[in-house]
Amino acid sequence: MIKRIRVNVTGIVQGVGFRPFVYNLASGLGLGGFVLNDSKGVTVEVEGDDAAISAFLNRFETEPPPLTKIESVRTDTLTPTGIKNGEFVIVESKNTGVRSVLISPDIATCADCLKEMNDPEDRRYRYPFINCTNCGPRYTIIKDIPYDRARTTMATFEMCPECRREYEDPKNRRFHAEPTCCPVCGPKVELLNRNGNKIICENPIDHAVQLLSEGKILAVKGLGGFHLACDAENDEAVVKLRRRKERDKKPFALMARDMAAIRRIAEVPDSAEEILVGTERPVLLLKKRADSKLPEEIAPNSASFGLMLPYTPLHHLLLKSPLDILVMTSGNQKDEPIAYGNADAKERLGFLADFFLVHDRDIHIRTDDSVSRFIAGKNRFIRRSRGYAPFPVKIPVDTSGGEILSVGAELNNTVGLTRGENVFLSHHIGDLQNVSAYEAFLEATGHLKGILEVRPKYIAHDLHPDYLSTRFVKESGLIPVPVQHHHAHIASVLAETGYTDKVIGVSFDGLGLGTDGALWGGEFLICDLEEFERVGHIAPVPQPGGDAAARRPDRMAYVYLLRAFGDEAPSLYRELLPSLDDGEVLLMTDMMGKGVNSPLTTGVGRLFDAVSALIGICTINTYHSQAPMELEATAEREPGEEGHYPAEIVESENGVAFVETNGIIRGIVDDIRRGVGAPVVSARFHNSVAEFTLDMTKRLRDAASISAVALSGGVFINRFLTERLVKILMEDGFDVMLNGRVPAGDGGIALGQAAVAAWRNR
Ligand code: ZN
Ligand code: ZN
Ligand code: FE
Repeated sequence: MIKRIRVNVTGIVQGVGFRPFVYNLASGLGLGGFVLNDSKGVTVEVEGDDAAISAFLNRFETEPPPLTKIESVRTDTLTPTGIKNGEFVIVESKNTGVRSVLISPDIATCADCLKEMNDPEDRRYRYPFINCTNCGPRYTIIKDIPYDRARTTMATFEMCPECRREYEDPKNRRFHAEPTCCPVCGPKVELLNRNGNKIICENPIDHAVQLLSEGKILAVKGLGGFHLACDAENDEAVVKLRRRKERDKKPFALMARDMAAIRRIAEVPDSAEEILVGTERPVLLLKKRADSKLPEEIAPNSASFGLMLPYTPLHHLLLKSPLDILVMTSGNQKDEPIAYGNADAKERLGFLADFFLVHDRDIHIRTDDSVSRFIAGKNRFIRRSRGYAPFPVKIPVDTSGGEILSVGAELNNTVGLTRGENVFLSHHIGDLQNVSAYEAFLEATGHLKGILEVRPKYIAHDLHPDYLSTRFVKESGLIPVPVQHHHAHIASVLAETGYTDKVIGVSFDGLGLGTDGALWGGEFLICDLEEFERVGHIAPVPQPGGDAAARRPDRMAYVYLLRAFGDEAPSLYRELLPSLDDGEVLLMTDMMGKGVNSPLTTGVGRLFDAVSALIGICTINTYHSQAPMELEATAEREPGEEGHYPAEIVESENGVAFVETNGIIRGIVDDIRRGVGAPVVSARFHNSVAEFTLDMTKRLRDAASISAVALSGGVFINRFLTERLVKILMEDGFDVMLNGRVPAGDGGIALGQAAVAAWRNR
């Protein structure tokens, strides 16, 4: 019997070789009909023998190309049109107005392309922009949808006849690969000196390799922006780069030629290799090998290296003998977004780089490298950006008709936009503390609205009135839905897991504005997606100087000493905190005494700062979270330490319990005086935080009969603490939920805000 059916597919089905797959499948089975990309995804109509159609449907769902992510398949039966010995065709894209297609993230160069690139007989031999249906740039070059070359930054490159033939041949692996190009018709690289003048040389890439191996610093244009690159094994080059970026001691990311190069410098658990070689290619934090000979300046005081494998053809060509490992750190100045335009890079990076390796394919959307870490058995994001953005996270509410723009917090900002049950999350925008970051924020917001063609009705935002993201609310003209910071953190976990019941939320971070105007950050909540109740927190302490204190762990240490030891504090700080001078201590004491610019904080981040300074590990944060990260790295040297310091849980008048931290501070000071080593003290401190969290959650479980716990907030990027806490919670019978698809830090806030707003408006 002859049948005709229509199949509508949604998901990531454009730019991933889906149409050629359908073409080959249908024509192989002798079916007639067509396939086309539309704004909803892909539409197929096939007509032919009953059995062939069944086979088609079966293989259609089980054998799609590797990068496809099918969200939904809808099949309708139509009346056969009577085509004989059917011809199957691919029809031009059409724009139907409603857009539900998913844009693919950027994809690392595939094995087939690498093989061609390394084949001297191939016409793309050593061509740095080789790509195909299965790999190459996507999100960073797409200006609009449907995804077609004309709507990407490749539009300016006219395909040569040979490329066009490949592009139009359904049997070719570049069939409708939109960025298809070759040395004849595609983008080209150029080497420039720091003044922007072109260096005349036979092969700019070979010359760049030469310069790198001589210890020069190069600004290299990549997929989503510029990197600053130098030979990671060259001490002088690394020190020079560190000096030029002088600002801080933040670890540099590394790019290694292959797994063997990674294994030489870092410990690679089995589970990590899969992440490293995957198509997303994040920077993965891996434990430094004790015998690694890389310069200390790459990741000072850190137990890990941030490592990634090459993800563009250009990277593969740069990482050749004698270069095994390159520093590949973001091409930006402190706190600014990564540079991505050629002119912009020359202006902003001119004094950081000796040379520029640039090309003429524009980056439409700047996208930093993603960063992740294995914690509690899973890969977890520190930053979710290139390779993942703008892939959405599904939430348990349909927002159709009441779409929401969520604008995140201030640090590590990302934005989200809902469509149906999906929250589409932007790339990492950065810290919204300056004009260029705010411009990037506006750009990202506009771009998301454009590619998704969503006109949001609501805007979900943080309570903090000074955040630029909050200030944008008025400008947006949308209906505001304020979401408290820590509620948003916990909601991000609930959104990811689809959990809609009440949980005990443990949200630990640096700070977020509370509903009482204080700075929260050590919070125990009973909450669901709708609302939250603050049922516990750590003991509040003043934060003299406000934001400034977040950069001065030694000052927070003094605050904690004063609280725990009273009159003894002055002699103690002279003994334990040599970086503090009497003048600033007087000033702080005065401010706190008068209550001037000394907001109360329950931030666990500040407690980590204080302890890091007390132990003498880090007294000044030169980059965000430096003191806590170095404190953790110190604890990791004593993984077997079981001890902890006492922390009492105190019921306060308003029924909200708090954790008295004085016992911890006294215990630490005792240990230091007894000469206990920093790694042991640090491990005991981490254990103490895990223990008091368990104590508090047990009380809450008894009171509220809830045994599900969600952990979120930047503190849970700390593996030592998180793994310890998860272990003891589970041993006690709790169900524990953590972030897995968005960062536990403020990069995940946009998801939580969107989910809360969606739930409230459902
Ligand atoms: Zn490829
Ligand atoms: Zn060509
Ligand atoms: Fe936070």
